[in-house]
Amino acid sequence: MDISIIVPLYNEEESLPELFDWIAKVMTKHNYSYEIIFINDGSTDHSWKVIEQLQKKAPDVVKGIKFRRNYGKSPALFCGFDMAQGDVVITMDADLQDSPEEIPELYDMIVNQKYDLVSGWKKKRHDGTLTKNIPSKVYNATARKVTGLKLHDMNCGLKAYRNEVVKNIEVYGEMHRYIPYLAKVAGFKKIGEKVVSHQARKFGTSKFGLNRFVNGYLDLFSLWFLAKFGKRPMHFFGFWGSVMFLLGFIAVLVVGGMKWYALSTGTRSPLVTSTPYFYLALTTMILGTQMFLAGFLGELVSRNSAERNNYNIEKTI
Ligand code: UDP
Ligand code: MG
Repeated sequence: MDISIIVPLYNEEESLPELFDWIAKVMTKHNYSYEIIFINDGSTDHSWKVIEQLQKKAPDVVKGIKFRRNYGKSPALFCGFDMAQGDVVITMDADLQDSPEEIPELYDMIVNQKYDLVSGWKKKRHDGTLTKNIPSKVYNATARKVTGLKLHDMNCGLKAYRNEVVKNIEVYGEMHRYIPYLAKVAGFKKIGEKVVSHQARKFGTSKFGLNRFVNGYLDLFSLWFLAKFGKRPMHFFGFWGSVMFLLGFIAVLVVGGMKWYALSTGTRSPLVTSTPYFYLALTTMILGTQMFLAGFLGELVSRNSAERNNYNIEKTI
């Protein structure tokens, strides 16, 4: 099979028929063998009914997954990645903001130009300037610095992947924003981008509010930390724990020694040898030990953290 198109969706009943027709038109024109995998992420509208109808209409093409509840875009994509059979895997949003017309060129970049992953770049965005465009620019600039990937629009819903890539990355929690980075960490090197057209949302509203940016930054930090120390937490906690312990230990010796000297010689002791400072030094030492032990715990946890992803499928068609 040439192409798997993965569409995660949450309450997008109005868009689905049009999206299906649009994709089918492009696929037929280019004679691709393909599948569309709709992942209904716990929609509370009639999205699943629509998917069932589309599946009846095109049983060879349409696959539907129904999650038992809303798990989020990352688990939805991850589930689609698991199922995808095509040589090239395309992800796109269900809301008609991404255009299927981009697929042939994305396909060509993967198959002929040998990219592992191509990320869409919504150069002309059709979202609110204040709520999306400006925060996105700041956020993407940070992401470029942290991840070392020269992408302008890391979180674009429209992306193309070599099948191998999607089988070798684990998209969990809210990490769909950083799939190119996950691919990089997994060892895939040829990661590019392509300017894609972007439409305003036709039906419904965005499912992600402004807090996406705060969460986005926090996730970026965790990802960076995990990529750097995830497999060896001891290398971070052990190091800084030891540094803290040593500083505390030296301070205890110095402060304690001065205090002892002052007491035993009967001279007036300077302020730094007062009891609170001694306790502060002692506390630093203890905190260092704690931090060191946190490293051990991290090592234990990282050995058992394979099962981060859980979604619950109610039905598959
Ligand atoms: N989506 C999803 N699960 C969620 C939230 C969103 O599957 O919990 C889907 C949504 O239906 C759409 C895509 O993810 O197909 C992108 O969402 P949206 O268009 O709301 O994001 P935006 O375009 O505003 O970034
Ligand atoms: Mg959208």
